[in-house]
Amino acid sequence: MAEHNYDFDLFVIGGGSGGVRAARIAAGHGAKVGLAEEYRMGGTCVIRGCVPKKFMVYASDYGRKIEEARKYGWDISVGDFDFATFMANMHAEVDRLSGLYMSGQVNAGVEVFEERAEFVDAHTLKLKTSGKTITADKILVAVGGSPWRPDSDELPGVEHTITSDGVFQLTELPKHIVIAGGGYIACEFAHVFAGLGVDTCLVYRGDTVLRGFDMDVRTEVHEGLKEAGVRVITNTVFESIEKTDGETPLHVKMTNGMELDADVIMMAVGRLPHINGLGLENAGVKVGERSEIVVDEFSKTSADNIWAVGDVTRRAELTPVAIREGHAFADTEFGGNPRSFDHDTIATAVFTQPEVGTVGLAEHEARKKFGAVDIYKTKFRPMRNMLNGKSERVFIKLIVRQSDDVVVGAHIVSPDAGEMIQMLGIAVKMGATKAQFDATCAVHPTIAEEIVTMRTKWEAGV
Ligand code: NDP
Repeated sequence: MAEHNYDFDLFVIGGGSGGVRAARIAAGHGAKVGLAEEYRMGGTCVIRGCVPKKFMVYASDYGRKIEEARKYGWDISVGDFDFATFMANMHAEVDRLSGLYMSGQVNAGVEVFEERAEFVDAHTLKLKTSGKTITADKILVAVGGSPWRPDSDELPGVEHTITSDGVFQLTELPKHIVIAGGGYIACEFAHVFAGLGVDTCLVYRGDTVLRGFDMDVRTEVHEGLKEAGVRVITNTVFESIEKTDGETPLHVKMTNGMELDADVIMMAVGRLPHINGLGLENAGVKVGERSEIVVDEFSKTSADNIWAVGDVTRRAELTPVAIREGHAFADTEFGGNPRSFDHDTIATAVFTQPEVGTVGLAEHEARKKFGAVDIYKTKFRPMRNMLNGKSERVFIKLIVRQSDDVVVGAHIVSPDAGEMIQMLGIAVKMGATKAQFDATCAVHPTIAEEIVTMRTKWEAGV
């Protein structure tokens, strides 16, 4: 394929969701493909993100289910949780999946290098462990992101904290954990630890978690954290962290004067593209103000033969997005089928307990973009909770553009909201109208039936 005598038609840096998809599809189109991964095949999602996190969510949810089951007549006398057993089983599954990622590449004919690759120039990479030099016609950067935390000048004692990466390496369940942040990761892990019986405190610099989401969703999640037993401290940040000899060895001081003790402190204050030392400057690849690799709609960087997909581009830091971007790139460059991934109306879930499912615009975004919108929302105690004594409610909201009745946003806070929003995402992406929602017959008795039975517009103050 290559006009010059390069070692590979395509070389992919990074064996995560976006990289492996692009490599496999390009190889399927007949390209000679190489891929380098410096850590473990599978990337953040499989090794230290979505997958092990979701297992932790399940583990934590079982504790709540046991309590609920008792109210349903089950005699469950022992409810102890063995963290070591859970972690061993979880890691075994992660290992299995990582193995599948590797065999998927090998079976597709991709040559995998288990080491770090850095740019020498736009067509040349240096493999750091073997010292080999590799050349490629086209190069795809799919190195993902990594957790960010302030340095010790900004936050003395930060070295005593862990990030989400460290959570998966814990050898015992903490008794007291303090989590900094109010985004996806902070909220998800606050629920995980609280559900596992850990005394959990969340410290957030704003006043309501999940900035950027619909305000009603934020309020539901914020209050839900408290109902789940999480102590939520707002409008402050850490000032310093000290290690002590006490039984609870970490001591945090906050800028509002409050102090806390913990045995684990987790910083969940954002992620950054993993580009340090990659040598992008040697290849003419432009980096933007948020440390993202700047790309066009076809994922092409400022260098003519280099593309980037996934979290490193910070378009939408989600696994399925990286996969779609990688696939579109491979089809465009090697399959004779130029196409780009449409980033509009991506459904997403936050695995809090209950979950958040959201697709389309938040109310504030819809009002700004379209002016007049109708709001339909409902909050109710689901049937399951009538018998188990839980007061937890679910929340459903639809945002409808007045000019043409199209549903431009849907937001759910409920058990299984992630599953619901995947389905609802199809209708919203297709541009379904509220009348079409209403014409859909309900499935009874379910939580989701409320999506098609809301008839009354919500008016402020009513
Ligand atoms: P987010 O950007 O979602 O949240 C970062 C949080 O840290 C925000 O609450 C932010 O506050 C706070 N913060 C930022 N800087 C500071 C600081 N200097 N001091 C104190 N607080 C600070 O990042 P996450 O790490 O939670 O997640 C990264 C991305 O990964 C997500 O955006 C998402 O795309 C993806 N992800 C997706 C998941 C899923 O699909 N379920 C799960 C986990 C991650 P503020 O709100 O004020 O900015």
